[in-house]
Amino acid sequence: MEIRIAKPPEVLSTKLPRHEQAFYLRYAEIVRIALSMPEVQKIMLLMATNECLNLRKIRDVRVMIFPHGSADPEQEHRKRLKLDSKGLCCSGTYNPLTGTISIYPIFTNPERQAVKLLTNETIIAGITLTAISAFFEEILHTKYDSEYMAREHLSRQQLEKEARRIADRYVDAFIEAAKS
Ligand SMILES: [Zn+2]
Repeated sequence: MEIRIAKPPEVLSTKLPRHEQAFYLRYAEIVRIALSMPEVQKIMLLMATNECLNLRKIRDVRVMIFPHGSADPEQEHRKRLKLDSKGLCCSGTYNPLTGTISIYPIFTNPERQAVKLLTNETIIAGITLTAISAFFEEILHTKYDSEYMAREHLSRQQLEKEARRIADRYVDAFIEAAKS
């Protein structure tokens, strides 16, 4: 499955200082490389087979350069995390109407020295895992959608929990595959 980097929003070049631009662009490139790894694609196919997912529902996978403008309080909270190995994370969305998966960074205002963090191997590994985790979860939402939620009488929270639980299993499978 092809992974592309979305067109940078205008705000990136007009409003942000250079170090922030560099940070977001580098971050997106790390995420794109992570999701394009052959091991990730292989585990994705395994997950699709095991979980009976229809990958044809996904028509576009884009790595967003800029955080999602969401009013979700949990996301707003996470956005304020400091940029350390825990704070560098991704979140995703799946739009069933267009078949688009979008993977977003979930922080704002990286500090001046933050771009240097993106050369640190431990941090790159952390970004890679959170990106894969968000990607797998959104793929699962092709099945675990509002229809499924209504049919199984689940709350939005239960649906999310279920998708995350399954995604985690395949992230573990990826870690195992990457070791050998
Ligand atoms: Zn979800």
